Amino acid sequence: MKNSNCIFCKIANGEIPSSTIYEDEDFRVFLDLGPAAKGHALIVPKEHYANIYELDDALCSRIFVLAKKLAVHMTEILHCDGFNIMQNNGAVAGQTVFHFHLHLIPRYKGDTAGICWNPGTADAEGLRRLAEELRV
Ligand code: AMP
Ligand code: ZN
Repeated sequence: MKNSNCIFCKIANGEIPSSTIYEDEDFRVFLDLGPAAKGHALIVPKEHYANIYELDDALCSRIFVLAKKLAVHMTEILHCDGFNIMQNNGAVAGQTVFHFHLHLIPRYKGDTAGICWNPGTADAEGLRRLAEELRV
């Protein structure tokens, strides 16, 4: 399914040009227009899934294999010092384009990408109860 109002549907399916670094029948990987660091790329399925909750399981299982392959390849070419792989779901989590995508972000010593969070606190009993509630 494609969504005619979705910019990533249009990019992934080649209706809008992009700086593509990889393409197969299910995915397009292209450079982010607002890169957090040099080489920041997005893995985008060609079908429209708004987020991880909607994503097809078969595609989901292929994405991390592809992410690993690209991380290794990009690290070789860019000589980056580290790598973030991240993915946002929902506006509150920082998602701004509501078509599933995985960020591949090469990191360099001293870069300004600033991907971090403020660590909170937790007590052992609270963690134990929460783990019980969440156990699958
Ligand atoms: P997120 O905030 O996780 O939804 O990420 C959306 C990402 O898409 C941001 O990093 C944007 O810079 C990037 N982006 C938005 N529009 C385009 C576009 N037309 N081409 C490439 N990247 C885009
Ligand atoms: Zn879409």
